[in-house]
Amino acid sequence: MRNFKKYVLIILSVCMLLSLSACKSGKDDNILVMATNAEFPPYEYFESEAIVGIDVEIAEALAEKLGMELKIENMEFGSILTAVQTGKADIGVAGMTITEDRLLNVNFSIPYTIAYQVIIVTENSAIKNADDLADKTIGVQESTTGDIYVTDEYPDAKIERYSKGVEAVQALLQGKVDAVVIDNEPAKVFVSQNKGIKILPEAFTIEEYAIAVSKKNDKLLKRINEALEEMLEDGTIKSIIDKYITAG
Ligand code: GLN
Repeated sequence: MRNFKKYVLIILSVCMLLSLSACKSGKDDNILVMATNAEFPPYEYFESEAIVGIDVEIAEALAEKLGMELKIENMEFGSILTAVQTGKADIGVAGMTITEDRLLNVNFSIPYTIAYQVIIVTENSAIKNADDLADKTIGVQESTTGDIYVTDEYPDAKIERYSKGVEAVQALLQGKVDAVVIDNEPAKVFVSQNKGIKILPEAFTIEEYAIAVSKKNDKLLKRINEALEEMLEDGTIKSIIDKYITAG
């Protein structure tokens, strides 16, 4: 009887230790927390209360492959990398372009698609190409590659930074900016939703979208890359993209 009590006590304390250590890490290992900014259709956007889109479906398929449950945390685009760095999120999936600067702070998975920056102007705009932007007022989404690119390339332009791409487009419609520089697919969506604006044929940059992972989490990065590799090969990624983006 004495021994029995001892065993129960030992088992109880082991259980407590285990649950304590689970508490300490603050996160359930079975939940894959995705940081995103749901203002970037067709990659992530709100459909009434739900966040949907290409990135959401890719992350869902990824989580399933890893045997995990996906949880989405919506935040400002500029907060995503900090969330990943501090462990508040496991992955950042937000149509996010791999850049040298971002690589100083996080690791990126293999790319899952490519994109480029385009210029949106009003139908009757005098702006015909990228050179015409040099001394204009340009709207961008803050801390995106569009922002970084025009800030570097157009020192004489006035750059207006918005927290959402759609706000930059509203500013264009209201005549507050002369052009908007933004990723090609969201540009297509915004132009299709608003009369009187168009995308110029000239585009710049070639960018790769990938998933951001903490530099401290190489194990997760490896598992994500393996899963992405499979999803790229077996057509899962393509069919998700095709569901949201019609060719042409
Ligand atoms: N691809 C751009 C970037 O990484 C924009 C992403 C976004 O606005 N969600 O900066």
